[in-house]
Amino acid sequence: MKKATKTAALMLVLAMMTTALTACGNSADTSGSTAVDTTVSTAQTQESTAADAGQAEAGTQEAAPEAGGTLTFGTNAEFPPFEFVTSNGVIDQYDGIDMAIAKQIAEKNGMTAAIENMEFDSLLVALQNGQIDAAIAGMTVTEERKEEADFSIPYYTATQVMIVREDSDITSAADLADKKICVIQGYTGEICVKDMGYPYEAFKKGTDAIMELVNGKCDVVVLDSATSQKYVNDNEGLKIVEDPSAFESEEYAIAVKKGNTELLDKINTAIDAMLTDGTVAELGAQYTEELSAE
Ligand code: GLN
Repeated sequence: MKKATKTAALMLVLAMMTTALTACGNSADTSGSTAVDTTVSTAQTQESTAADAGQAEAGTQEAAPEAGGTLTFGTNAEFPPFEFVTSNGVIDQYDGIDMAIAKQIAEKNGMTAAIENMEFDSLLVALQNGQIDAAIAGMTVTEERKEEADFSIPYYTATQVMIVREDSDITSAADLADKKICVIQGYTGEICVKDMGYPYEAFKKGTDAIMELVNGKCDVVVLDSATSQKYVNDNEGLKIVEDPSAFESEEYAIAVKKGNTELLDKINTAIDAMLTDGTVAELGAQYTEELSAE
């Protein structure tokens, strides 16, 4: 009896740990890009095979746009330095690391990239109903999202951080317990704070959450690292507090409709080349500098 109880308790702990990890977008396989690529590709091959089998039964096949055609990416262009609206972007009025990557993926496949700008929460639905071919939006791969879409190999590693006012006494995630927390709706920051069990207020736009913080109406915004840095650079009196033990690393990848292996293969080949030849790293440096120089 006792032993059974102990085993059950241990299993519960393990299950809770797994939930926490997946919910925060973390996976144990995030160290080193080669290891990541291999793990993810293997997992995706298995998933794709399963998806293909399902589709063969249903008699449907996802088509990827052909060379000469348009590759339509969905994004939420309020996530600098990955995507933002500007007067003269790399794709129409859209600019940022993701936009430059999207453009190159299309070009490497003889296609033209187009952008559909929408709410972050709508991206996976837009994939499912065919409004967009792929979603590129600094989107963290999570177990839940993997049920709704297939993901490319990761191209960027990020983490959640806490943006606070300079005089804040917050030094770790444990200090959030009695604080007024702001997050952005549907982002992994919201998932993490929810998992920690803290009450929070969710905003539709990062800039709105930051204004609450600047105006003293909330104490902390939990948000992705690079985007947080941009907001701290742009707004006087803010700083970043990190807590890697509470917020583990997450990986950004491009999502396609489940079973669209033809497009996923094209995207993966292009990303792999851009990771190998240093293009992604260069774009990262370029857009972070560009934005902090503003
Ligand atoms: N990486 C975060 C997520 O996937 C935020 C992405 C975004 O806002 N574009 O939820």
